[in-house]
Amino acid sequence: MNKKIAIVTGASGQDGAYLIELLLKKNYRVIAALRRNSNVNTSRLSSLGLDYVTDNFSKAEIELTEFTNCSNLISKLKPSEFYNLAAQSFVKTSFAQPIYTTHVNSLGVLNCLESIRNFSPKTKFYQASTSEMFGNPKNKKMSESTEFDPVSPYAVSKLYSYHMTKIYREAYKLFCVNGILFNHESPFRGQEFVTQKIITGLVKIKKNKQKFLLLGNLDSYRDWGHAKDYVQAMWLMLQQKKPSDYVVSTGKTFTIRDFVNKSAKYLGMKIIWKGNGLNEVGYDTITNKPIIKINKQFYRPTEVNYLRGDSSKAKKVLKWKPNYNLDSLIADMCDAAIRKY
Ligand code: NDP
Ligand code: GDP
Repeated sequence: MNKKIAIVTGASGQDGAYLIELLLKKNYRVIAALRRNSNVNTSRLSSLGLDYVTDNFSKAEIELTEFTNCSNLISKLKPSEFYNLAAQSFVKTSFAQPIYTTHVNSLGVLNCLESIRNFSPKTKFYQASTSEMFGNPKNKKMSESTEFDPVSPYAVSKLYSYHMTKIYREAYKLFCVNGILFNHESPFRGQEFVTQKIITGLVKIKKNKQKFLLLGNLDSYRDWGHAKDYVQAMWLMLQQKKPSDYVVSTGKTFTIRDFVNKSAKYLGMKIIWKGNGLNEVGYDTITNKPIIKINKQFYRPTEVNYLRGDSSKAKKVLKWKPNYNLDSLIADMCDAAIRKY
């Protein structure tokens, strides 16, 4: 039997690496779609042993904003599955680069959808949607039926593609799904995201390689899962008889301050907090030194204050179940950071 072919965009990113690993285990022929870079930026793939081309694994160049890049790849390979993970994925940057963010996250997705509609209508399409689209709704647990109220250029750009994905499913009967994923982290998480920044900072402080860590808003809540669990859900969505959208989350939520405290505890440190707002400082109880300070530059102009997902549908229909909780996620990230630094 011919192998299923899967194209994964955003293959150099956190989720791309784990998804490709999963698909190869499931015996797919996988094409890692990457954009040109002046430096080698495939370290995540390399650390999974995915350095060179094999019968099942190859790389292809794609710039998502270039229609012909998408259409040529899709028309040539006519993949069974196309996972669109590529994005300008950092909320803070979307305030500084709203136009670029929209080009990639909105029009880039439309390039993929149009290519599938015109050249490979049997291809199943996964769009990496996000809990950021919920913004600050009234409900305290967000599901597929919760209203969207985006509060960043990133969230608006993703909401555009969320709707386009639905429209292509309904108007053209294509197999298109949105995974509305809540925050998910791992040792592969980018350095600018708060979880990786906290863990890397604390490990370096403990090893006397850094004096203190500067953070922004400690009071927002996030529902954090492990990326390895979440790529399983992506794959499951494309194995269903009918296309649909799914929320993927743990259902538990914690503040950024909680995340700092839990990470510190795992690393054998303890922090005492003094002061409020921009004047809040976290002291290491062993050395009495201030190791966490707050800096305005890490605040966002508008903030998503509270995220907590209800993934009952994914659990019921996809039979998806996460293996990690926040403590085991923190342990995995801390262990990796200790090995690295
Ligand atoms: P990363 O930031 O780690 O990876 C993003 C990927 O997109 C990188 O491979 C990047 O390439 C690629 N990319 C960016 N712009 C372009 C472009 N113009 N053309 C082609 N490729 C491009 O993100 P994650 O792996 O964490 O997330 C995967 C997807 O899921 C993203 O779409 C993100 O927005 C979404 N998402 C993530 C969540 C999370 O908590 N991680 C939550 C919900 C949704 P390069 O390395 O060259 O920059
Ligand atoms: P996001 O939920 O996709 O924006 O993921 P991030 O990890 O970037 O941010 C999660 C939350 O942490 C947001 O509410 C941020 O405002 C908050 N936060 C507080 N300090 C920082 C910081 O120094 N860096 C980042 N990235 N976020 C911070």
